[in-house]
Amino acid sequence: MVEVVLDREECTSCGNCVEIDETKFTFDDDDKATIIGSERDDGMDEIEVDDASIYEEAAEKCQGECIEVYDD
Ligand code: SF4
Repeated sequence: MVEVVLDREECTSCGNCVEIDETKFTFDDDDKATIIGSERDDGMDEIEVDDASIYEEAAEKCQGECIEVYDD
């Protein structure tokens, strides 16, 4: 499994992640991005996935540099 983390405090609301895949990212009520299906812990969205390719693309294009993919 691959862990993906989104630090919502650093999100600039640029929308790039949502544009890449709106089934995996959306905007929450505070207009910051959230990972659909994730758990939130202290402002960080966290999810474990099998296929991280979309998340890696989002991380590359994230203006806030706030999406991290940890593949161990
Ligand atoms: S790409 Fe990054 S900065 Fe832009 S909306 Fe998504 S999480 Fe926020």
